[in-house]
This record gives sequence, C-alpha cells and structure tokens, in this order.
Amino acid sequence: MKCRSARKMMSALIDGELRPAEKESLTRHIQDCGDCRKLHHEMLAVHDLFTAAGQHKAPRGFSKKVMAELRTERKSYSIFPVRIPLFLKLAEVGFAIAIVIVGIISGNILVMNVHSLEKARGIESSFSLDAFDPAPPDSLAGAYINFTEVRNER
Ligand SMILES: [Zn+2]
Repeated sequence: MKCRSARKMMSALIDGELRPAEKESLTRHIQDCGDCRKLHHEMLAVHDLFTAAGQHKAPRGFSKKVMAELRTERKSYSIFPVRIPLFLKLAEVGFAIAIVIVGIISGNILVMNVHSLEKARGIESSFSLDAFDPAPPDSLAGAYINFTEVRNER
C-alpha cells in the first residue's frame, strides 16, 4: 500500500468503516511506515478529543430561532454580506463617490500638467537654433546640400 492511499483510508479506519482486508493492509502499512504511523496517532488523538468532549443538547427552540433568523436575514439581503446599519452603508457609498471624484480631479490635474509641459517644450524648441536651420538634413534641400558639399570637398 502507498502512503497516499493509506492516508485516504485512515479516517475510515478510525471510524471502523473498512472491510477486513483493507483494514489489515492499512494496519500493516501503519506499522511499517513511520510517517503514516505518526499521522494515524495524531488523527486518533483528535478523534479521542471529540469523543471525550461529549454531546450537549441545544436549548429549547434553538433550531426554530435559527430558522427564523435565517428568514429575516434573507429578507434584508443586500450587496453587503453582513447586516450594516443604514448610516454606515450611506457613509461607505459616500466614501466611494469621494474616492472616484478625487481620482477624476487628480487625473485631470495630471493631464493638465502634461499638456502645459508639452506646451513649454514646444516654446523652448522654437527658440533653438535647429528651428532656423535653412535646410533640415532629412529634407530634399538638405540632401542636395550634403551632396554638393561632398563634391566641393574633392
Ligand atoms: Zn506511509
């Protein structure tokens, strides 16, 4: 028997739900395998704890009260999983709206800053000497000038 199948059958062994052949091969594995023996002892300890805890009777009318509570829960069901006072719900909604508004405003400020930066760059570059270059190197005139300069240098 492999450890994996042994561990699957272990709680059934404790509950006495195994057929005699299964029980025998599992018990043999537990004797031979240290890890499974340890796990078996732990499971036995937990099982003993639960059986030692004993059973307590619920107070009279407990299940009726639970069911009645469930019915009222279902009626007041909303997007909020737990019952929250109305003013808190409103506060949450208000907070969410405030966050969205702050987001929109700060987003606009960012975009405005980028625009003004771009404008400043445009003005700056209009003052640079490149703007007064009579023939930019990648234009047709620039290519012609390059060509003639190369010829003149010879
Ligand atoms: Zn094992």
